Amino acid sequence: MTAMPARITVLGGGVGGTLAANLLSKELGRDAKITVVDPTGMHVYQPGFLYVALGQANGRWLARDERTLLRGDVELVVEQAMSVDPDAGLVGLERGGTLEWDYLVLATGARLVYDSVPGLSEGSHEFYSLAGAQRLREELRRFRGGRIRVGIAGIPYKCPPAPVEFVFMLEEYLRHRGIRDRSEITLLSPLNRAFTIENASKVIQPFMEARGIGLTTFFNVESVDPAAGTVSSLEGEKTEYDLLVLVPPHRGQQLIDDSGLGDASGWLPTDRRSLQVGEHERIFAMGDATDLPISKSGSTAHFEAPVVASRISSLVRGTAPRTNYGGRVMCFLETGGGKATALRFDYEHPPTPPQPNRVWHAAKWMFNRLYWQTVPQGRIPERAPKERGAA
Ligand SMILES: Cc1cc2nc3c(=O)[nH]c(=O)nc-3n(C[C@H](O)[C@H](O)[C@H](O)COP(=O)(O)OP(=O)(O)OC[C@H]3O[C@@H](n4cnc5c(N)ncnc54)[C@H](O)[C@@H]3O)c2cc1C
Repeated sequence: MTAMPARITVLGGGVGGTLAANLLSKELGRDAKITVVDPTGMHVYQPGFLYVALGQANGRWLARDERTLLRGDVELVVEQAMSVDPDAGLVGLERGGTLEWDYLVLATGARLVYDSVPGLSEGSHEFYSLAGAQRLREELRRFRGGRIRVGIAGIPYKCPPAPVEFVFMLEEYLRHRGIRDRSEITLLSPLNRAFTIENASKVIQPFMEARGIGLTTFFNVESVDPAAGTVSSLEGEKTEYDLLVLVPPHRGQQLIDDSGLGDASGWLPTDRRSLQVGEHERIFAMGDATDLPISKSGSTAHFEAPVVASRISSLVRGTAPRTNYGGRVMCFLETGGGKATALRFDYEHPPTPPQPNRVWHAAKWMFNRLYWQTVPQGRIPERAPKERGAA
């Protein structure tokens, strides 16, 4: 008698969920029945939002039908997951159905919560959603000069370099439009420096100074007053703006809250090495949905996926786990003028970013172009780091 295939359900068809599902299908073949659940059925390449906001790309380039990215034997259910019952091994779906699973991967990403900061929705723009990036593009087209403030309305947020990249790219954009001398750009940083990672701040701050981009430190956004055109910080400062661009606060998905699996902000308590969720031996988390103290980024999900796939495969096969996640992250950071730097680090090794140069800029463009043919399918060979003492 042959054993029944293991039922593996992946919630979320973003970077992490898609790659994990494809790797599981490759590793387990007929030994597993893999189902991806996603409410949109579309896979979105979010790094492209920056280019949309600055008029360098249109939305069509950024979204693909999720079905075309999944291996043929992976089933796609286009529906929103509403609840997880870890004990019964069930996922509740929006239209009332349920899915039974033996192993569950939570890759539901982060959600933007606009209403947690007074005045944010009415008074500011953002480039963290496709619709927001398209609105910002139109606003920038109408912009004829003035004070632009760019800030962060809550920590943690995905892609920590994005606001810094945005100010550099915006500076270039205004120069090309011939309105740079009539415009003031200021980055409002919640920290004592431009960027979370100290080494990276040391590299990029001189570039900001050279481009005349202002920096206000210790500015944790508290509220926006659209009528007065001001934004206030928890530290008690208030600044005026003509155009305000804020990264909206993030939290975990409603489903995580409703299932009682997350912390107070909806992030999943995740083991930093095995990626197991809490005490649930058959549930794994990855990408933006976790509470791990590392960047919420596509590359994080990319490097975690082989670990999740390998760990579940070991459980299905009854073998000892072979891999751990070592905290690996890799992010490009555009500094304008055709140059970029790169942040590569893991739990043990902080990044030492190179001076911005043309090679990293070219590498980012290459990655943008190759993304659809490589990352979701696992074609960029990423070995799950084999670690000492995997357990
Ligand atoms: C402007 C911008 C620039 C960025 N630039 C970079 C960059 O240069 N490099 C980089 O590495 N990262 C970058 N990122 C971050 C990157 O896009 C995210 O970190 C990455 O997409 C996270 O992957 P994920 O699989 O965890 O979540 P996502 O890719 O967000 O996917 C989550 C999926 O879960 C689905 N979902 C949500 N709720 C449910 C539910 N209830 N049931 C089922 N499915 C659900 C969603 O529909 C979505 O498809 C950027 C992000 C932004 C916004």
